[in-house]
Amino acid sequence: MSKKILSIDHSLCLNCQTCTILDPKTFKVNSKNQKTEIKKQPTSIKKITEDTKIAIESCPSKAIKINH
Ligand code: SF4
Repeated sequence: MSKKILSIDHSLCLNCQTCTILDPKTFKVNSKNQKTEIKKQPTSIKKITEDTKIAIESCPSKAIKINH
């Protein structure tokens, strides 16, 4: 089973949609509970794309974590 490289701390997430707009391949809104979640995990830390890095840096509440 692959390790979860990215996670969203829902105690911090504001559901502002900055990450889903900047990197819709990686982040999405769960249509059932309306919470932002990871759509597709990168296969390794090295595979984290520039779009994902920009989304992480742009998150206003720093809710997106990279799990080393
Ligand atoms: S950018 Fe951050 S606060 Fe905004 S929806 Fe994404 S994880 Fe949540």
